[in-house]
Amino acid sequence: MTEHAVVIAGGGPTGLMLAAELKLAGIGVVVVERRASQDLDGSRAGGLHARTVEVLDQRGVADRFISEGPIYPCVGFAQIQPDIADFPTPHNYVLALWQSHFERIMADWVIRDLGVPILRERGVVRRPRSGCAPRVAVSGRSTRRRAAVRTGSC
Ligand SMILES: Cc1cc2nc3c(=O)[nH]c(=O)nc-3n(C[C@H](O)[C@H](O)[C@H](O)COP(=O)(O)OP(=O)(O)OC[C@H]3O[C@@H](n4cnc5c(N)ncnc54)[C@H](O)[C@@H]3O)c2cc1C
Repeated sequence: MTEHAVVIAGGGPTGLMLAAELKLAGIGVVVVERRASQDLDGSRAGGLHARTVEVLDQRGVADRFISEGPIYPCVGFAQIQPDIADFPTPHNYVLALWQSHFERIMADWVIRDLGVPILRERGVVRRPRSGCAPRVAVSGRSTRRRAAVRTGSC
């Protein structure tokens, strides 16, 4: 049985960011993802907000994203577009990147550069039962993963 401190179910934006934070904290983590690649059907989210870019900046990777898309000083919210140019942050804008685009940048950072392992075309299929040793079953494998923590929204 392969052991990890954390098994993350899903390599979307949430799973990738969590994986980065855990890896940077020195915690053994693996991502299990049903999709064969980072490709998405459709566009989904259309940009990164100021706070997201601030967090990426804290991790030293904001420029990877900023260099790939235009920035806008207005935020679309409830049919209005407040100007945030006077926000007290160096990232006082919306960075216009489709999710299909920024997920690829995130994956390059987290999987390629930080070296977080990812199992593609696999799914977390069983949660650990309370009171049992924490085991996570992964589809398509005869082995199981042991995890102190399993996370994911499914
Ligand atoms: C049609 C559509 C349009 C949208 N438009 C916008 C928008 O305009 N603006 C905006 O801000 N947001 C938009 N969103 C929302 C945005 O896409 C989500 O907020 C974002 O994708 C959430 O990221 P996540 O990582 O939490 O989940 P997801 O992106 O859903 O990622 C979850 C991942 O987990 C994988 N997975 C799930 N279960 C398992 C399992 N058991 N084992 C292994 N892998 C698993 C899935 O394959 C998936 O890759 C839209 C969403 C949709 C569907």
